[in-house]
Amino acid sequence: STPLLQVDDLKKHFPIRGGLFGTVTGQVHAVDGISFSIAKGETLSLVGESGCGKSTVGRAVLQLFPITAGQVVLDGQRIDTLSASSMRPLRQRMQVVFQDPFSSLNPRMRVRDILAEPIRNFGIAKDAADLEARLARLMDTVRLPRDAINRWPHEFSGGQRQRIGIARALAAEPDLIVCDEAVSALDVSVKAQIVNLLQDLQKELGLAMLFISHDLAIVEHMTHRVAVMYLGKIVEVAGKRSLFSAPMHPYTEALLSAVPVPIPGQARTRKILTGDVPSPINPPKGCRFHTRCPYAFDRCRVDEPELRPTGEGHIAACHLHDLPRAQNPLLNAVAA
Ligand code: SF4
Ligand code: MG
Repeated sequence: STPLLQVDDLKKHFPIRGGLFGTVTGQVHAVDGISFSIAKGETLSLVGESGCGKSTVGRAVLQLFPITAGQVVLDGQRIDTLSASSMRPLRQRMQVVFQDPFSSLNPRMRVRDILAEPIRNFGIAKDAADLEARLARLMDTVRLPRDAINRWPHEFSGGQRQRIGIARALAAEPDLIVCDEAVSALDVSVKAQIVNLLQDLQKELGLAMLFISHDLAIVEHMTHRVAVMYLGKIVEVAGKRSLFSAPMHPYTEALLSAVPVPIPGQARTRKILTGDVPSPINPPKGCRFHTRCPYAFDRCRVDEPELRPTGEGHIAACHLHDLPRAQNPLLNAVAA
């Protein structure tokens, strides 16, 4: 069946301007040719270190700026080429929950007006009574007391504000929610509550989610599939179980080794990631990860690996998979 969202060879480059005349002196390759899809009702997590381009992907999907190349297809319809007016009704179908619940709510609007705005903008309510019923249902949905609707954002805790942010996204009745580090700013205990809420809502409402996060413990808890990004490229995509139990890219292996494992005695072999992410202005030639990869060999410095299948629903971009099995450290990882 048609995926809800299909992203093909997406590129987003930002010009760097310098000198007296602001001439373009280079390009930041924030997103450099990535493809993925999300099925209806599915959660795909986009993970990677800060600066890898994952937020840019989220904003490109939401059509918050023109993309450099590639295409974005929503439910079979290409949207990156639409005019602003043709895009308008489609915006209802994709909503966003931001990282910071403190700055993403207008402090001069009561919760009632914050939630009513998208309902009015998209002409969703039939009449005033329907609007009231919808507002009450939204409060129920995010587990906030109905009578809190007349209060102001500053009267709520961080977790409650994020519930309001989620209610605002749901008010538009979207098919897809982009969560960009939606729980990263919250305290640990609150984080778990909001993650559980998102997961419940996803099941109850059949929502699809693009869950952008650097926190793999949270991703493991709530996602269906994972796409790992490094320096503007996707290096691995797999179902959750497959990715967390048998990563097929050295970068994923390194990210996972830092995640605590709940089962004693099953500690992942720890691989320390050294060095910073290289600049996306001049990404390394060959495999972009070769400057930090513990397994890099000659070919990695000249030849860029492509994403290829390594198992059922699992793809990875790494030359190690061309080596004989016995010489591939990813296939011979032994738990310590
Ligand atoms: Fe490491 Fe080479 Fe694989 Fe890149 S292609 S991840 S440098 S082994
Ligand atoms: Mg970000």
